[in-house]
Amino acid sequence: MNKQWSIDKIKQYVEKNSDSQLLSTEYRGFSQKLEFKCACGNDFEKTFTKFKNKNQTKCDVCQPPKVTETL
Ligand SMILES: [Zn+2]
Repeated sequence: MNKQWSIDKIKQYVEKNSDSQLLSTEYRGFSQKLEFKCACGNDFEKTFTKFKNKNQTKCDVCQPPKVTETL
């Protein structure tokens, strides 16, 4: 998969597919950590790959890292 993501597309994706908001204003590649704001108010960092492919769309408090894999 070689889909090109831009910060605007990512922002739309985040708004459609999660309760979180994207805080980052720049996207430089899949390995970059982006800043998000969780619905609970916490800020968290995650690569977009994890956010999208592993459904890690919340902060570690709302969605502890251990239990995320099966969605
Ligand atoms: Zn949270």
